[in-house]
Amino acid sequence: AQKVVLIPGCSSGIGLRIAVMLARDHMERYHVIATMRDVKRKNKLLEAAGDVYGKTLSLLTLDVCSDESVKHCMTRIKDQHIDILINNAGIGLVGPIESISLDDMKKVFETNFFGVIRMIKEVMPDMKKRRAGHIIVISSAMGLQGVVFNDVYAASKFATEGFCESLAVQLLKFNVIVSMIEPGPVHTEFEMKMITDVSQTEFPGADPDTVHYFKNVYLPSSVDIFEALGQTPDDIAKCTKKVMEAACPGFHNLTNPLYTPIVAMKFADETGDLSVHTFYHMLFNMTGIMRVTLNIIKCLTCGCLRRRTTISPH
Ligand code: NAD
Repeated sequence: AQKVVLIPGCSSGIGLRIAVMLARDHMERYHVIATMRDVKRKNKLLEAAGDVYGKTLSLLTLDVCSDESVKHCMTRIKDQHIDILINNAGIGLVGPIESISLDDMKKVFETNFFGVIRMIKEVMPDMKKRRAGHIIVISSAMGLQGVVFNDVYAASKFATEGFCESLAVQLLKFNVIVSMIEPGPVHTEFEMKMITDVSQTEFPGADPDTVHYFKNVYLPSSVDIFEALGQTPDDIAKCTKKVMEAACPGFHNLTNPLYTPIVAMKFADETGDLSVHTFYHMLFNMTGIMRVTLNIIKCLTCGCLRRRTTISPH
């Protein structure tokens, strides 16, 4: 039987590519319920989906920040039966915290953290009853490793990881699997728009040194990292499909092998200094890259890098 997959946030980026890839599965194993806050933004999805719209792909309205919207969406789904939930909706936030209001920080948590919980609470009871289901969250490598000037975004993804890691234990008893997809940088319109927007912002409340470090040190290095390491939304879709179809899906799934050493540093040094100092040198020291290389070589020597694996999109 076809598996019913519910995906919030399908008007763009990763969610759109996952929805299309699953709906176009050549064995037609999935019925994808692609959702978005505003179905007026459906054109890009429908264009990419082509002739599968109305067959293996349907479209519904859903805002992960609204109880009413989520409940209403569920009433439109046959028997409210979901086999696989892919929590994809998310928003970013970057910049010096001095110039970000608490209200804006709360919005990030409303979407990235409470949005995920709202969706899980909606589908979980039925999955538990049926002793079957897969809950997938598009988290981030920043859910495992904090990144400078991404304080609130990383915190929202850490919170989600902690929530899901706790829940995964209980749900295993009900044969419901929880998996986190942890991409590094991914090229989406959203990322370029954010970089352009923030480079034009004034950042009231932040001192000139901090604004300088953000605009002239962090932003250029972040653009370099995106260019060097960035994956495509399609890469993330392939990794997600692979996790869905694995015989025993893992809990953590980094999508980018180049991020494995970064996460491994945490496990290599339990004081946390290795991570903090490596990131400090990467950002502020010209010789940073040398030190990073040395740290990685040290980790390779002690073997901690070999313990982790990544999901390759291929
Ligand atoms: P994106 O902005 O293209 O996609 C996010 C989608 O979520 C959009 O379609 C947006 O409309 C939707 N959304 C936002 N708030 C919503 C709400 N309240 N209800 C329903 N939908 C809502 O960006 P993306 O990169 O495709 O992001 C998808 C996920 O991947 C996010 O959770 C993001 O945190 C994560 N991620 C992105 C990157 C990256 O570099 N782009 C890296 C790691 C993880």
